[in-house]
Amino acid sequence: MAPVGIRDVRKRFGTTEVIHGVSIDIADGEFVVLVGPSGCGKSTLLRMIAGLEEITSGEITINGRVVNNVPPKQRDIAMVFQNYALYPHMKVFENMSFSLRLAKVDQATIRRKVEEAAKILNLTEYLDRYPRQLSGGQRQRVAMGRAIVRDPQVFLFDEPLSNLDAKLRVAMRTEIKELHQRLKSTSIYVTHDQIEAMTMADHIVVMRDGIVEQIGAPLELYDNPVNTFVAGFIGSPA
Ligand code: ADP
Ligand code: MG
Repeated sequence: MAPVGIRDVRKRFGTTEVIHGVSIDIADGEFVVLVGPSGCGKSTLLRMIAGLEEITSGEITINGRVVNNVPPKQRDIAMVFQNYALYPHMKVFENMSFSLRLAKVDQATIRRKVEEAAKILNLTEYLDRYPRQLSGGQRQRVAMGRAIVRDPQVFLFDEPLSNLDAKLRVAMRTEIKELHQRLKSTSIYVTHDQIEAMTMADHIVVMRDGIVEQIGAPLELYDNPVNTFVAGFIGSPA
């Protein structure tokens, strides 16, 4: 159970405000896709939800609790990045269990959680391999595995597929959605790929220059874009 609330959130870096009062309500178990051009503030917003970046003003709630001052590790959130930096000198098993070892989880639990995650992600055969011995898609799955083992209530994805080739991207989209349905976690997924947004989202949030232009289901945005920017972005004729 983890609805996420973003209420009039602003972010300044120095004197420059880059997020100008964003509000988004995300229901428990929803898959929300954030889209918008490069530099519009998508990553900054995710990082604020994760607690990796301070909020200048406004409020973020997870499961009804205001988390503005809650450190990242206590937010029950896992984040999957674009450059999923796996540790090259560690095997898949160690990569996936690293955060659990840091948290001093006992060995038997670590093994069970990693094996469960590996099964979900079709990585069982690869636990003894090093990242360099894996394909791009497998490495991306290991990155997701590292997130899953922590049983997060909220998953944040920041353009997780943008380093993969087109064919693999299509396959991974389906996998991420299946994973989401299976884990029933709330997911916020950033992409600048319209097709990804249209095919994956329950709701799409269209951002431009630090504001939200429109929020809606994919077909709502497609049929009733509020302006030419949204229309252009979603791909219907403006
Ligand atoms: P997106 O992920 O949509 O491409 P970002 O959230 O990375 O956009 O960036 C939004 C704006 O904030 C950009 O103008 C970017 O230059 C600025 N920005 C991001 N991080 C910092 C930072 N640490 N310091 C100063 N400006 C930043
Ligand atoms: Mg970004």
